[in-house]
Amino acid sequence: MTGASRGIGRAIALKLAQDGNHVVLVARSQGGLETVAAEITASGGSAECHACDLADCTAYAALVEQISEKHGRLDILVNNAGITKDGLAMRMSDEDFDAVINVNLKSVFVGCRAALRPMMRARFGRIINIGSISGITGNAGQANYAAAKAALAGLSKTLAKEMGAKSITCNVVAPGFIETDMTEALGEKIKEQILPSIPLRRLGKPDDIAATVAFLASDSAGYLTGQVIVVDGGLSC
Ligand code: NAP
Repeated sequence: MTGASRGIGRAIALKLAQDGNHVVLVARSQGGLETVAAEITASGGSAECHACDLADCTAYAALVEQISEKHGRLDILVNNAGITKDGLAMRMSDEDFDAVINVNLKSVFVGCRAALRPMMRARFGRIINIGSISGITGNAGQANYAAAKAALAGLSKTLAKEMGAKSITCNVVAPGFIETDMTEALGEKIKEQILPSIPLRRLGKPDDIAATVAFLASDSAGYLTGQVIVVDGGLSC
């Protein structure tokens, strides 16, 4: 699973390990990954770390292949890593647009493509892509991010249709505002302004997202595919 060094990814990794999965942790920072892996092993779970920059999509695809060859299987792929490079559309540079599309969308595509072969062989697979409500509602200042996250729905629904006959499911979990480093950057004032529009009157916690991902990865979700599941405390309802 990607983006496992902190935030939502860390919570997903801990939960999947708690549910009995061997978890392969991927992000750029080896130190961050090792801290999460140590937490997993300390609570009796099993994990391994691979530092990889998803901006290099070829390297990420090769890593997915290497991991599935090493273990002889790949049951669950969680594409969680994501970046923002916000700015109003009229001032957004090509570089900032491309960088966000590359990490938040293209790496997801190449990761899924590399995972499909072992999943097809096993006639089983769970692909879970982490989107955002920005991709559903749009968000001023996030043309690049919202475009990438919206595209994950089209990608995931297509994979659901292409792979359903092989019992491979593919879904998107779309978080609202979750307390992580990504939203820390917004500052307290903006967070206070957002709160009244969230029916559940709190920002989400990484564990809120991890619980939904763990459900999608479980046997109980075997008849659920091609969906975008919004976990936002009701913000977008
Ligand atoms: P975060 O705290 O900023 O963590 C991002 C994770 O992605 C880190 O583990 C980071 O690790 C990894 N990452 C970033 N760029 C990478 C790259 N080029 N290659 C490999 N790994 C990379 O973010 P978060 O809030 O947990 O968000 C996780 C996902 O949820 C993202 O896809 C985000 O868009 C989505 N989301 C978050 C919120 C929210 O409110 N927090 C809302 C909607 C959607 P390294 O820095 O070590 O590489």
